[in-house]
Amino acid sequence: MPKINIVPADRIKNLPPYLFAAIDKMKQEAIRQGKDVINLGIGDPDLPTPAPIIERLQKAVADPRNHQYPSYEGMLSFRQAVAKWYQSRFNVTLDPVTEVVTLIGSKEGIGHAPLAFINPGDTALMTSPGYPVYHAGTLFAGGRSYFVPLLEKNGFLPDLSSIPESVAKEARIFFINSPNNPTAAVATRAFFESVIDFANRYNILICHDAAYSEIYYDGVRPVSFLDVPGAKEVGIEFHSLSKTFNMTGWRIGFAVGNGEALAALLKIKSNMDSGVFQAVQEAGIAALEMQDAALGPIRKIYQERRDALVPGLHKLGFKVVSPQASFYVWIKIPANTLSAEFASRLLSEAAIVATPGVGFGTAGEGYIRMTLTSSTERLLEAIDRMEKAGVVGG
Ligand SMILES: *Cc1c(COP(=O)(O)O)cnc(C)c1O
Repeated sequence: MPKINIVPADRIKNLPPYLFAAIDKMKQEAIRQGKDVINLGIGDPDLPTPAPIIERLQKAVADPRNHQYPSYEGMLSFRQAVAKWYQSRFNVTLDPVTEVVTLIGSKEGIGHAPLAFINPGDTALMTSPGYPVYHAGTLFAGGRSYFVPLLEKNGFLPDLSSIPESVAKEARIFFINSPNNPTAAVATRAFFESVIDFANRYNILICHDAAYSEIYYDGVRPVSFLDVPGAKEVGIEFHSLSKTFNMTGWRIGFAVGNGEALAALLKIKSNMDSGVFQAVQEAGIAALEMQDAALGPIRKIYQERRDALVPGLHKLGFKVVSPQASFYVWIKIPANTLSAEFASRLLSEAAIVATPGVGFGTAGEGYIRMTLTSSTERLLEAIDRMEKAGVVGG
């Protein structure tokens, strides 16, 4: 049979290897060798979706009205539930018709956003370390990524004054993310105010990723970017039901904020996808209506885990700030050690999967990330194994 040469486009060749796939391969290999692997690598909640959400889906799935194509922007009832939740949770008023767009998970919206705002050769600002999709989406749009480092001395918030004037002038969008993956840093209101000034000065659209706003500790609630005066004029906020309600597999999220920006994003989306299954949107309404009834117990569990893992790491000599939000722990490793080497030592000597910081960007070198998505018992077991194997900080 004749055969053609399959030649992937440059945009695929230029992609950095997808970090979590590489980690997964290492893990599979260890499991194949019969090891009892403790996976602290992947940010996917281990807890089940709360029952009322599942029940709402079960009902909705039987309704033939939900079997047809949904609307591109999402059901009005879902967008109204989002607006209502934003009002009660963040004190932010949204017009459900023009200021809320339903997404197939926030990753979908984040990945598509550069197609809506970046021309070939344009610059997108983002942080290093950071969620890999900001860069991938920018690459696919033919744009260039400029990485602002997240440094310990700045509380892991981007230092806007470090961005060269020439870069800022060329930038069209800026991805920021609080509570942060992977550093767990939480933006202050003052930081958001400086971001809004920066956006106005250089005419840059702010894309704030708030996937972890509801995973917080000690009762200290992260603020919404949109709760800061002037934010809606310069930006949009991405949100997800995934991490909040243990719904990563369901694929539902939303973007809110600037109506013109959302209309541009929707233009891309309506040519690429056909929205979220309505039964899933119905379940999403149930989730947003549950609010703290669902979230209180979930937060309590993560907090208990944090309070087991972090003191254990301190005992082993690691420098780590106890997270105030997100389910990530960002751990400084001993100086002169590469994060990939440290992660592979953890796996081979203690059968623990952790994510090397460098996988989130070059400024993540010197750190590893662990997640709180395993039981307290497993986290304590991980500390025990590290101690026995002598994989310690310092
Ligand atoms: C998990 C994650 C997302 C994407 O979540 P979805 O399931 O696509 O909604 C977005 N941003 C960050 C920082 C994440 O960690």
